[in-house]
Amino acid sequence: MASPLCVQVCIMGAGPVGGSLACRLASAGLSVAVVDKAALPPMEHPAFDGRAYAIAAGSRTLLEHAGLWDILPVPPHPIRHIRVTDGKVGRPASRLHLHFDSRDAGEDAAAFGWMIEARSLRIALNAAFPRHPALHLFAPAEATVERGADRVTVQLADGTEIHSELIVAAEGRQSPLREQAGIPVTRLPYGQSGIVCAVAHERPHHDLALEHFLPAGPFASLPMGPSADALPGGAPHVSAIVWSEADARAAMIMALDDARFAREIQRRLGDHLGRVQPVGRRWTYKLSAMLAHRYTDTRLVLVGDAAHGIHPIAGQGLNLGFQDAIALGDLLVAAARAEQDLGGEDVLKRYQRARQIDILLMLGLTDQLDRLFSNDNPVLRLARDVGIAAVDRARPLKRMFMRRAMGL
Ligand SMILES: Cc1cc2nc3c(=O)[nH]c(=O)nc-3n(C[C@H](O)[C@H](O)[C@H](O)COP(=O)(O)OP(=O)(O)OC[C@H]3O[C@@H](n4cnc5c(N)ncnc54)[C@H](O)[C@@H]3O)c2cc1C
Repeated sequence: MASPLCVQVCIMGAGPVGGSLACRLASAGLSVAVVDKAALPPMEHPAFDGRAYAIAAGSRTLLEHAGLWDILPVPPHPIRHIRVTDGKVGRPASRLHLHFDSRDAGEDAAAFGWMIEARSLRIALNAAFPRHPALHLFAPAEATVERGADRVTVQLADGTEIHSELIVAAEGRQSPLREQAGIPVTRLPYGQSGIVCAVAHERPHHDLALEHFLPAGPFASLPMGPSADALPGGAPHVSAIVWSEADARAAMIMALDDARFAREIQRRLGDHLGRVQPVGRRWTYKLSAMLAHRYTDTRLVLVGDAAHGIHPIAGQGLNLGFQDAIALGDLLVAAARAEQDLGGEDVLKRYQRARQIDILLMLGLTDQLDRLFSNDNPVLRLARDVGIAAVDRARPLKRMFMRRAMGL
């Protein structure tokens, strides 16, 4: 029988969070095994995932430290302005709006964040894995995991055995490792679906992200770079659309033909970008929030969607996962340099402490934002319009919001 592969850390899940963490650790000289149950190359295909992520400035550092930022095949597009408005479908947005300009957030704030296509990140990850000699990738692979007091043993279906000090669950929302550890989870269904697509439009977006709060749920348009192949002859002005609707209505909208679908987008977006034309496929996702009651167990930590899922209202889901990876990466690199046990109690406790408050705050904030804005109650409408106008005038508060959203 072949001798086991001994690594310091084993990561289950080669998605954006697990994959970035693996590259970050390998770049710092740690030995890592990454196991994904799915084959990775098909995830690079445009039909696999149509999402584009808004990556906050604070998350960019992870992609840089992981060596991924510079090899993204489609250059990230900056978000330099954000406008938040309140309104109704088919009517002009309320005149009371919040406008954020990244230059007001401080000298270190070149942009609020960057738009990155989900598949562009997958391509960069898949290209980066083989560049690290101490990173061992197994995909597609079925695994069984045994966590003991002294080490973790991962048994793959092909007979490979992996030993590690720590195992990281980065398997997304249905994390089998979390379930195996018996970690309880609280779920908040929203009865909403997220509709995601890209549109080409007549006028430039000037790097402006628009968050338009409508009674059925938020509607966001996010600035993307020009596309050579979205339309015959190319599309110079492109935005990503993320939009929440009640489940039944979302299903009806998804079934519309292109012309009617474009009209529904236009009624929510308004006229500032000129005429819009949907390009490529549309996707829909059921929205819910989810929180694991703790993020650690014997020689196990949870990161990304395995630990938490939030409403996409503020585009912060992946950013929260990247913050997990930054915190865990820093702890593990420091522990390895100090020759400490990477799966020991000390590391686990520090990780739980480092992430608890941040995750709870973001979950609470996105949940409350959705409840405050996704309704047509006239009292709440007045309160939020007054709140929007007040925040717009209060410069220090605005600056605080901006820096927080940027993860600075
Ligand atoms: C409509 C919508 C829009 C969004 N927009 C944004 C946005 O603008 N900005 C943002 O920050 N976030 C956004 N998010 C959230 C973001 O998509 C998630 O937070 C992110 O994908 C989580 O990454 P992850 O690596 O934790 O998990 P996943 O992306 O789910 O990856 C999990 C990986 O683990 C693998 N896996 C699964 N099971 C196993 C197993 N048993 N063993 C081994 N491997 C396994 C999978 O194959 C996959 O590769 C959005 C979400 C939605 C629904």
